[in-house]
Amino acid sequence: MTVSDCVFCRIAAGEIPARLAHSDELCVAFHDLNPQAPVHVLVVPRRHVASLFDTGEGDRALLGELVLRASAIARSLGLAEDGFRLVVNTLAGAGQSVFHLHLHILGGRPLAWPPG
Ligand code: AMP
Ligand code: ZN
Repeated sequence: MTVSDCVFCRIAAGEIPARLAHSDELCVAFHDLNPQAPVHVLVVPRRHVASLFDTGEGDRALLGELVLRASAIARSLGLAEDGFRLVVNTLAGAGQSVFHLHLHILGGRPLAWPPG
């Protein structure tokens, strides 16, 4: 797959519309098209990275930034009191369907454990 075929690259480039929750030089965050909770936001690096398995030592700063950004977005969306879940589905067996790294922020309802 080329980057131009990647839906999240295209959202980051502004070529596909999305309801943005955050945007900066490293990442964008937008509301999931098919939300699984009252708050369901995806935090996505602008750089195309297929999955967490495609990151390495050189990505420490990026990964740290994505997690810190997710926490700040969760707070800004009203989840500071009841909390939220951060999910990174990695490969198809774990439910990954879009092969551009993304962090799911889920909240706004009770979340069961273990997940399905
Ligand atoms: P995953 O299954 O972990 O790869 O998550 C991919 C997520 O991307 C799913 O929750 C989809 O609903 C969501 N998604 C796919 N296309 C779009 C889109 N164009 N805008 C917003 N969310 C999307
Ligand atoms: Zn991509």
